[in-house]
Amino acid sequence: MKAIAITPKQANTVRLVEMDKPKVSDIPNGRGVLVEVLRVGACGTDREINNGEYGVAPEGFDFLVLGHENLGRVVETGKNVREFQTGDFVVASVRRPGHSIYDLIGEQDMTTDDDYFERGISRLHGYMAEFYAESADWLVKFPPAIVEIAVLLEPLSIIEKGISQAFEIQERMKIWRPKTAAVFGTGTVGLLTSLVFRLRGFEVHAFGKDKRDGYFNADLLEEIGATYDSTMEISVADSVKKYGEYDAIFECTGYSPIAFEAMTALNQNGVLILSSVTGGERKTEVPADKINQQFVLGNRLMFGTVNANREHFEMGVKDLALSEAMYQGWLKKMLTHKVEGLENFGKVFDILNNAAANNAIKVYFEVNKI
Ligand code: BGC
Repeated sequence: MKAIAITPKQANTVRLVEMDKPKVSDIPNGRGVLVEVLRVGACGTDREINNGEYGVAPEGFDFLVLGHENLGRVVETGKNVREFQTGDFVVASVRRPGHSIYDLIGEQDMTTDDDYFERGISRLHGYMAEFYAESADWLVKFPPAIVEIAVLLEPLSIIEKGISQAFEIQERMKIWRPKTAAVFGTGTVGLLTSLVFRLRGFEVHAFGKDKRDGYFNADLLEEIGATYDSTMEISVADSVKKYGEYDAIFECTGYSPIAFEAMTALNQNGVLILSSVTGGERKTEVPADKINQQFVLGNRLMFGTVNANREHFEMGVKDLALSEAMYQGWLKKMLTHKVEGLENFGKVFDILNNAAANNAIKVYFEVNKI
């Protein structure tokens, strides 16, 4: 079968490779599911892996099959699989258990292992292939009525984890009634985050680099009742003068200095969620005393979040369905670039590498027709 692979830590090696078709029996204990891949999204992580910034090949291979945002159809199940049937739509999670205590209880997204296993990213082949085999434990069933938007589930799962953990951590108080949220970053993750906050009833203020005029993502944000401002036109501090301090802030710009500005924009008891994987060496000067004092005197909170486990995927399925009930057709507008066939990987990476010029939000392969 065809697959799209890179050589880790070397720039621009993306290519088509030929692999053996996987088998249900590759997975132990009769728990295997063979899945025909229908769609695979491509994101900044895939771009950075192809730039040679990170990515690890599986043991015994000198290449890594890319792809972690996925949708597929079950074609065969092992003898101990009761929860899936042939024809079911499924989305697979990304991280697989390592060795820490969190991994052993299905919370590998909270692993304390330094070497982690992520399909399409680290030590495991991904989903940019015609088929994959996986244990039923790591698959989530997807509703046929909204299958067109299923490729958004994996990126959404990251947000579901961040926001649900914020609420869990805030149980340090007897009540927490957040009203306003700021979202820094207005790409795929920023748009989905703004959506989830809107679905939870927040007043949402989103910030991106692009000027408002002619920026499609800003149109989308306004359609769901969020505001959009360009950080080229308003500073974070001035945004607080305009909208007040934020009860929750989600940072997903990929630009680390803004995290420190965000720290100064939190309301008392507020929470700042950091989700950008910033691989560089950037340094910045910050008002350290002021930030520290505000955090102490206002019981403010900040935490980082990565990856997601099965329950966050399940939350995501519900929010995708709720979004269709509240803002019908909105999510589909995020699917800006469909590329048919794995052999057209060059086109996918061209769009990814020039996302702004292409007005791209979600770029994805259609590997097989739904
Ligand atoms: C993926 C996550 C993954 C993270 C770090 C993101 O692009 O969506 O599943 O944990 O990269 O590798």
